[in-house]
Amino acid sequence: MSIALTPGSFDPVTRGHLAIIRRAATIFDTVIVAVAQNSSKGGTFSLSERISFLEDALHDLPSIQIKEVPRQLLVEFARDEKVDVIVKGLRGATDFDYELPMALANRQLSGIETIFLPAESHFSHLSSSLVREIARYHGDVSLFVTPFVEQALREKFVSPGISQ
Ligand code: ADP
Repeated sequence: MSIALTPGSFDPVTRGHLAIIRRAATIFDTVIVAVAQNSSKGGTFSLSERISFLEDALHDLPSIQIKEVPRQLLVEFARDEKVDVIVKGLRGATDFDYELPMALANRQLSGIETIFLPAESHFSHLSSSLVREIARYHGDVSLFVTPFVEQALREKFVSPGISQ
């Protein structure tokens, strides 16, 4: 049984994240989607909202589990969950520069390897912050997120320019 971990804040989950998670599920027996708690500065959506978006988008795949990461090192959580490998999406060189030190430190701390999957070319520009920015000004985000997330963004940003 191979277990992969796909961590992130998913604030909110985008079709770019979902493509990586689904591809990981074709390679590994089980994929644990690890949802990080909001940092001290807070996020747009609560942890339970972010988890519900993921559950809605991935309910057709029984090999995927969605879990909140407790406030501890990711590799400690990964060890507790008996994870074999961490899977990360790479949109480009900026992601690589950010992810490489974390991957090396995580391996030194725990022996757990990180595997990178290249982003789908049509989602390689996509980030949660870009989606939030478009939604804040009532732009169309239907290409980038699920209908459930689209509706939640609409309710969140009821007036143009409201900052959350
Ligand atoms: P973070 O919380 O680290 O800012 P996210 O929660 O947005 O990042 O994303 C978690 C993971 O998903 C990261 O490995 C990131 O590279 C990857 N990712 C984010 N957006 C995309 C995308 N459009 N295509 C592929 N991978 C992505």
